[in-house]
Amino acid sequence: MFKRILLKLSGESLQGKQGYGIDEQRLAEYAEQVKAIAQRGVQIGIVIGGGNIFRGLSGAKRGFDRVKGDQMGMLATVINALALQSALEAIGQPVRLLTAIRMEPIGDYYSPDKAKRLLDKGNVVILAAGTSAPYFTTDTGSSLRALEIRADVMLKGTRVDGIYTADPEKDPTATKFDEITYDEVISRGLKVMDLTATAMAKENGLPIYVFNMDVPGNLEKVINGEKIGTLVKP
Ligand code: UDP
Repeated sequence: MFKRILLKLSGESLQGKQGYGIDEQRLAEYAEQVKAIAQRGVQIGIVIGGGNIFRGLSGAKRGFDRVKGDQMGMLATVINALALQSALEAIGQPVRLLTAIRMEPIGDYYSPDKAKRLLDKGNVVILAAGTSAPYFTTDTGSSLRALEIRADVMLKGTRVDGIYTADPEKDPTATKFDEITYDEVISRGLKVMDLTATAMAKENGLPIYVFNMDVPGNLEKVINGEKIGTLVKP
């Protein structure tokens, strides 16, 4: 079993069926799934996206300055992080929020040592505001944080059950990989993660497991070693 994981949750999944914002039911399901594995002693760092609220790139297409748009996106991740923190607290799970951009009292300022100390004390630790730098995504933030906190694996929770030869939501003939190498993800141009995140994981030997987080119970299955998703490895 993994001792310490970095869980990436997408902002887009958080919107549930609504198409925007935060779906309380999805949020509560995520919190329950996280608590279930925390109770089994797994240390959990969480990076959450902001795509349900704002993405810098789509902002730029609509005329926003890219850097400011990305900063808006990073603030969106903080909104989601607060929602998740609140949902975890509501079910009695100790949880702390650290932000990569200073904004006490919303959360303490992130440092890898602080995050590791809080994890060792039994808290779930939410790492918000991405990397604090524009032109990155929360996928890259997740690879970076996973390496910084020395997580055994990065678990990427998505709304599909792994990596496919093509987008399974568009191409019915797409087939799923049980395992794939970083190089294949890059050479096949698979859109599962951005290039920067994949390259960083490759250079540092960080395993990534992609699975469907939107089915309650799946996170625990991954922790149990059930092969329900796709492993990205050297
Ligand atoms: N973002 C950024 N730097 C980071 C992380 C995120 O600029 O280190 C911005 C970027 O604009 C991104 C937005 O925050 O589009 C929301 O994050 P992301 O798109 O990764 O969210 P997700 O797709 O997981 O919902």
